[in-house]
Amino acid sequence: MEIKNIEPKEVFANFYELSRIPRESGNEKAVSDFLVNFAKDRNLEVVQDEALNVIIRKEASKGYEDRPTVALQGHMDMVCVKEDDSDHDFANDPIELLVEDGWLTANGTTLGADDGIGVAFIMGILDDDKLEHGPIEAIITTGEETSMVGANALDLSQLKADYLINIDSEEEGVLTIGCAGGLDLEIEFKKEYEDISGDFIAIELSGFEGGHSGMEIDKFRCNAIKTLARLLHKIEGVQIADIKGGVKRNAIPTTAYGLVAVKDRDKAIGEIEKRIKDVLNEYKDSDPKGKITVEKAEYDGKVLSQKVSKDILDAIFALPDGLYKKYKDNIVTSSNLGLLENREETIMFHSMIRSEVDSAKLNRAEIAMAIVERFGGSYEITNQYSGWQREETPLIDLANETWKAIHGDDLIVGTTHGGLECGLFKKEIPQVEMISFGPEIQGAHSPAEKCNIESVANNYKFLVELLKKIK
Ligand SMILES: [Zn+2]
Repeated sequence: MEIKNIEPKEVFANFYELSRIPRESGNEKAVSDFLVNFAKDRNLEVVQDEALNVIIRKEASKGYEDRPTVALQGHMDMVCVKEDDSDHDFANDPIELLVEDGWLTANGTTLGADDGIGVAFIMGILDDDKLEHGPIEAIITTGEETSMVGANALDLSQLKADYLINIDSEEEGVLTIGCAGGLDLEIEFKKEYEDISGDFIAIELSGFEGGHSGMEIDKFRCNAIKTLARLLHKIEGVQIADIKGGVKRNAIPTTAYGLVAVKDRDKAIGEIEKRIKDVLNEYKDSDPKGKITVEKAEYDGKVLSQKVSKDILDAIFALPDGLYKKYKDNIVTSSNLGLLENREETIMFHSMIRSEVDSAKLNRAEIAMAIVERFGGSYEITNQYSGWQREETPLIDLANETWKAIHGDDLIVGTTHGGLECGLFKKEIPQVEMISFGPEIQGAHSPAEKCNIESVANNYKFLVELLKKIK
């Protein structure tokens, strides 16, 4: 089937056009210009800022002039990931769209429905003069997938909106009314060397389930880095030769490795083996494939002093990690010790802390900082961004009524423990009522990404009706 002809055409024809333009985060000039021209061709007011964000204004339809202004918001950039055997060039090639069993997908690459489909919704509304709605302010940002560069640079004082509808959520029938903010706590311990006073053992953890540090932190899975410290911190005379774990700050670590000298090797192995049994038993349901080995090792490099080694292991062991607070079914506050690195002059570990409540996020960071200080480490907070704290507003009820009238059932209303640009907006323009929704997208940020076609139709209809009703 021709993608352009799938209903609703107002959405799919625009998504098709977007998919022809390379738009990896950081490479948005072409798509930003395309959106500017889209507006100019339709005689719509348009602003493109230095960060290449695009704001397009459409006047109210006849008889709706005194209605409030509604911002429709999405991001133009996409995550570009492909299958190992794909020769797709994201800088030049159009995304090759396919239809399979009622889903839109791409050939060997991410689809970019996150958030191209949201942008296509907005273009559909801007393009259709038969719709009934108050003034529309479309806000289409850049660099959302990296660190929300566009939303950060956006001058929000120019906005006229009374309401903001973000179209960057990915679950059919779910209305998002809050999101997590975040910060990265980077912790370092300076290396101090000492003569070796024992024999070496190597510990390796692998095969743990891991998962997304925001979405899956409430599964109580085993953190391999924390567990490594649990196995080692009580062992007599530990001296670190090498230590590492995890691959990304926002993933629950599935692997960790330690090479250490210990005072009495046989005794140490015995104690660690006992602890390994305990760990594997405790996590047998959540992490059935988890594997831990401890064995004798040989090494002739330098080792850290017993004091610094113990401080590092105790700090990792004591650091708060995992789910901290939930409200109803939604995660409110959490942290993830996702990375442990052996650097030139330091041992570094990294905790990513999330909360929809900024003070709760800072509190969690301060607990970690107090522990690190006690053990003689240093820390730095980076990448801090605000959350959007759950709010109950009349717009939510209106959205629910609208959905119910079309689809027969209530919306599931909740917060996400991922980040949305709404968090940044909410900090600057707290008076604007916000909601977020979107059609069903699965496997976002991976080559398996797919978007449900019927869900697009359902959600577009919902948006059209909602815009008619907002007074
Ligand atoms: Zn997105």
